[in-house]
Amino acid sequence: MPVDSTTLAERAEAGQVWEAAAVEAYSSFNVEAGIDFPDPWSYSWLGRILVFNFGGHGLYVGPHWYCSVLMLGFILAVGLFQCNSVTSLEQLAGSVFVTILSTVSFLRCALSNPGVLQKNHVPTVAESLSMRVRRCDICQITQPRGCQHCQFCQVCVQGHDHHCPWMGKCIGSNNLCSFYTFLFCGFGSLAYILLVALAQPPTPA
Ligand SMILES: [Zn+2]
Ligand SMILES: [Zn+2]
Repeated sequence: MPVDSTTLAERAEAGQVWEAAAVEAYSSFNVEAGIDFPDPWSYSWLGRILVFNFGGHGLYVGPHWYCSVLMLGFILAVGLFQCNSVTSLEQLAGSVFVTILSTVSFLRCALSNPGVLQKNHVPTVAESLSMRVRRCDICQITQPRGCQHCQFCQVCVQGHDHHCPWMGKCIGSNNLCSFYTFLFCGFGSLAYILLVALAQPPTPA
């Protein structure tokens, strides 16, 4: 059976147009380009993620924010306990440093954009080929590879890794690096605290 070259050429062209449209449709959400805040200190919803416009910088608070508050409380409590039990100025400086490091790396991840995909208009060519691609009917977007809809956050996240309750929301391509940074800083701080505690001379009875 002969190959219909016209159809193949048309398909290739449609594919190229679709690729171009896909780049436009999949661009990750960004406060500057994506959300029109009425004023610099306002908020908006992305599914169940609350986005605060903190003076032009977007802070993303997920649906499990209360777990993040518990986590933050735990980090600060461990830091405070450690600062109270040190015996030298060097140990106090070290304890304050690891507590600040853990807190900052935690907040950086917990308040970042995981890579929420915006509800762009999907062009006609993409719609005509939609039988070949995955689509999220809730977000009304065509999902690129690696994208997954989160049932807790109610958004489609690019490079979805998992939904982390302790971070309050999803871990995706945008905050995966800051998530691993927090794990490194958090476990490093705990290891430091443990070493300091083991190095303390035993208190006389
Ligand atoms: Zn979705
Ligand atoms: Zn999620």
